[in-house]
Amino acid sequence: MRTLAKLHPEKGLWAHESDVPEYGNNDLLIRIRKTAICGTDMHIWNWDEWAQKTIPVPMHVGHEYVGEVAAMGSDVRGFKLGDRVSGEGHITCGHCRNCRAGKRHLCRETIGVGVNRPGAFADYLVLPADNAFKLPDNIPDDIAAILDPFGNAAHTALSFDLVGEDVLITGAGPIGIMAAAICRHVGARHVVITDVNEYRLQLAEKMGATRAVNVATTSLQDVMHDLHMTEGFDVGLEMSGVPAAFRSMLSSMNHGGKIAMLGIPSGETAIDWNQVIFKGLIIKGIYGREMFETWYKMVAMLQSGLDLSPMITHHYKVADFEQGFAAMASGQSGKVILDWT
Ligand code: NAD
Ligand code: ZN
Repeated sequence: MRTLAKLHPEKGLWAHESDVPEYGNNDLLIRIRKTAICGTDMHIWNWDEWAQKTIPVPMHVGHEYVGEVAAMGSDVRGFKLGDRVSGEGHITCGHCRNCRAGKRHLCRETIGVGVNRPGAFADYLVLPADNAFKLPDNIPDDIAAILDPFGNAAHTALSFDLVGEDVLITGAGPIGIMAAAICRHVGARHVVITDVNEYRLQLAEKMGATRAVNVATTSLQDVMHDLHMTEGFDVGLEMSGVPAAFRSMLSSMNHGGKIAMLGIPSGETAIDWNQVIFKGLIIKGIYGREMFETWYKMVAMLQSGLDLSPMITHHYKVADFEQGFAAMASGQSGKVILDWT
């Protein structure tokens, strides 16, 4: 089968033929139809410090996908051949206290598809059936291929009550933009999103942000003043991983504000803790998606009219994957889809 693999410990990915993987009693063998390129795949492509210490070589990667059930182990229940599926990329241990409490997103032993084990940039993916998510017919393949990052956005955005609230999102990457769309969909008032990339800020406005602010040229305080936000934001969603963005969020929050943090800073971040203490802020870290509450909510939001289609800005045949990675690297893209059919 075709794969996109990290074959050498250096920058890049390579098209590579390998055997169709064997599957166990509780696994699905998924025939991949479409995949999307994640920011994580860019780290793997670039072979940065994190990738070097995390990704085994050789291995094929990728974790945003849609496919169909091509075969299954003898103990699998609830799926049939041909079912259209995507899947949760965090494989959890099942034995720890959190797993046993049904809080699998908090498992201490999480293994990542396409990070710690072979991924979805391949004709076939083996996935524990427990991790698969059967898709309703009215969710198109393109959207099904981006449920993983949409799930990051949903898990983060839905951490706190948003109805009638003023929300600040720092970072208009694909996840920040989808979070803005979710906030509007569920009834937030002002949804202000910041970035330094004009292309992405424009996409964020198209997706429903009330203000998309280029912090390189415009002051967030001025925007708050324009919007008559005299007290500050009620909810903050940190989706850049950039310390300066987090600091500006802390200083723009109202007292009693709540912050959910998804963005991953590259190192330690110094902040003014007095902002947290005297404002009584609540800060919650977010990893992955809730299994599987986030998945059900994603489907429900799509079925109740949330339109993510403008997020998908580029399509390539998998043979042209290098162009797809270049589009992602340029910053002039939303989500980039690779077609395996
Ligand atoms: P991305 O890198 O595409 O988006 C980050 C955005 O932040 C970029 O558009 C960048 O221009 C912008 N930015 C840079 N400086 C800024 C500043 N000063 N103020 C505001 N924005 C600024 O990433 P993504 O794929 O959208 O993911 C968002 C973040 O979430 C990343 O940090 C990623 O590593 C992280 N992530 C975390 C999880 C998790 O489970 N916690 C899962 C997926 C992604
Ligand atoms: Zn566990």
